[in-house]
Amino acid sequence: MSDCIFCKIANGEIPSNTIYENEDFRVILDNGPATKGHALVLPKKHYADLFEIPDDVLAKAVQTGKVVASMLKEKLKCDGVNLVQNNGSAAGQTVMHYHLHVIPRYENDGQHILWKPTSPSAEELVEVKNTIIG
Ligand code: AMP
Ligand code: ZN
Repeated sequence: MSDCIFCKIANGEIPSNTIYENEDFRVILDNGPATKGHALVLPKKHYADLFEIPDDVLAKAVQTGKVVASMLKEKLKCDGVNLVQNNGSAAGQTVMHYHLHVIPRYENDGQHILWKPTSPSAEELVEVKNTIIG
């Protein structure tokens, strides 16, 4: 993908704050971080999202995220880590090149990455279940 910014960053054509690299991925600091150390796992090959990335590469992306989460825990002494991955603009995806967010969390960091729970009835939940499995 010649006009994809994450392709260019992942392959070193555009400079980035790289904190980890292996054969398949470059991990960079997000330039609009939720918290200190917020990182992005970028595959070096272009896949738009979860539905395009092959299963074996996806598994390696999560493994790479785990390596980086451990680095952030050790070096930045974060108290927790969120792995977040958005697919489609409705889900908040703004760059259409698969990326896994690794977000270190600190007690009282003031971020709001978790959702607001709703209260469907038992019948509504069953209806959703039947739609999915039917
Ligand atoms: P998403 O909303 O899941 O598509 O996440 C895109 C993320 O990429 C956002 O958190 C942006 O801050 C980040 N981002 C966009 N462009 C760059 C860039 N050139 N370097 C580093 N991070 C970027
Ligand atoms: Zn790309």
